[in-house]
Amino acid sequence: MQATADLRKLLIFSAPSGAGKTTIVRHLLNTFPDFIEFSVSATSRAPRPTEQNGRDYYFLTKDEFLQKIHRGEFVEWEEVYKGAYYGTLRSEIDRIFQKGKAVIFDIDVVGGLNLKNQYGANALAVFVKPPSLEVLKERLQQRNTETPEKLQQRLSKAEKEMQYASLFDVCLENTDLHFALKKAEQLVKSFLHLSE
Ligand code: 5GP
Repeated sequence: MQATADLRKLLIFSAPSGAGKTTIVRHLLNTFPDFIEFSVSATSRAPRPTEQNGRDYYFLTKDEFLQKIHRGEFVEWEEVYKGAYYGTLRSEIDRIFQKGKAVIFDIDVVGGLNLKNQYGANALAVFVKPPSLEVLKERLQQRNTETPEKLQQRLSKAEKEMQYASLFDVCLENTDLHFALKKAEQLVKSFLHLSE
C-alpha cells in the first residue's frame, strides 16, 4: 500500500464512552501502521491498572495540566468529567506530522468537533454511533471499570453526545463490529488517498 498525497491530516474518532471507538481506532492502527499514529492525550485523571504513561495518556497532575493550559500548549482541552481534564497537546500533533504520518484521535465529542473546526478539510471527523443507549449501558457495565456513580455520569453524558452526531463528516454505526471495522478502513483509505 502507498500514500499518494500529503499525510499531514487528522482522523478524528469521537463517540459516547462505550460506543466502541477505541476498538475501531486500535484496529485502524494495526491495519495502517505505516501511515497513521495515535495521538496520546494528556489527562489529569488517575491511570487505570493496565494503563501506561506515554502510551495510553500523558498522566499529569491537575496543577501540571492547568499550567500547560496557561502556556497555550493545548490545541484543545476540556474538563470532560468534574475535576478530570483531558486535552490534545500541540507538540503531540507536531511529533506525528514530523514522522510523515496522519494523526488518529480517540476523543470525546466536543473535543472532536473542536479539532474539526480548527483543521477543516484536513480533518475527517467520524462519529461512532452505538446501536442504542441500552446497548451502551450494557457495554459499560460489562467493562466494569467504573463505579456506579461514574457509570451514571458517562451515561448521561452519552445521551447528550448522541445529539451531536449530525455535526460530524461521517456517522459510523457500530451495530456489527466486523462491518464497522471494514467501513472505518475504507474511510481512512479514501481520506488519506492510500492505494494498493
Ligand atoms: P477515559 O477516561 O475513558 O479514558 O476517557 C474519557 C473521555 O475523555 C472519553 O470520551 C475520551 O474520548 C475523552 N478524551 C480522551 N482524550 C481526550 C482529549 O485529548 N480531549 C478531549 N476533549 N477529550 C478526550
